[in-house]
Amino acid sequence: MQNRVPLIAGNWKMYKNCFEAEHTADELVKLVSDVKNIDIMIAPSFTSLALVNKKISGSNISLGAQNIFWEDEGAFTGEISKNMLISAGCTYVIIGHSERRQYFNETNKTVNKKIKTTLESKLKPVLCIGETELERESKKTFSVLDKQIKDGLQDFTLEDLDSLSIAYEPVWAIGTGKTATKEQAQEVHKFIRSLISKEFNTELASSMRIIYGGSVKPDNISELMNMTDIDGALVGGASLKSKSFSKIIKFE
Ligand code: PEP
Repeated sequence: MQNRVPLIAGNWKMYKNCFEAEHTADELVKLVSDVKNIDIMIAPSFTSLALVNKKISGSNISLGAQNIFWEDEGAFTGEISKNMLISAGCTYVIIGHSERRQYFNETNKTVNKKIKTTLESKLKPVLCIGETELERESKKTFSVLDKQIKDGLQDFTLEDLDSLSIAYEPVWAIGTGKTATKEQAQEVHKFIRSLISKEFNTELASSMRIIYGGSVKPDNISELMNMTDIDGALVGGASLKSKSFSKIIKFE
């Protein structure tokens, strides 16, 4: 990996009430206080954002949101705006997670709008992309990713995208216990980096963090992190317990 600071992010999905989220955040702060040169992010549910922010304040952990809506405010029941996320203390926003694409009709077009609003507010987007098992089996992995990237990043300029990270998350590996092999992940990360280079330029491609997600655990993080184009991880299940997440953060 060239000069890219790794990002290890925990997606807490729809787990943990306010008290549980505060408790896990408290524990994590202590467990990773000695970690340097790695960006750490946790994304709790919306109701816990501000509370968790207080717990991690002054630590080496940043706050992320699991979603954002592109309008500034208005009659959009159930949605959350950039201003709300900023006031809760967020730095990052996870966009286009496969669960949002699968269950909540997220499309490449809505992903594009969400990235735009995130960048305008100086929050850092983490764009999630990935193929399903069927797409992989029918050899469509690269064409699916190509479209997700081109449509998701449509109309952005080079300057817009320097805070963007991409999370490659094969859908068949999320929450299934099946991890892509390090070689499979590296092959795709390399493809993503060369696509960014073609669509934008090589500087952006070589500085952009491309992180892997899909059943990352303490026992597979090191081999993944050893691959040239893997710059970190987006972790679901194994980020829910502070101990296992801290082991991933420390590649122990
Ligand atoms: C995720 O939610 O982004 C994820 C990768 O989940 P898991 O680690 O549980 O597979």
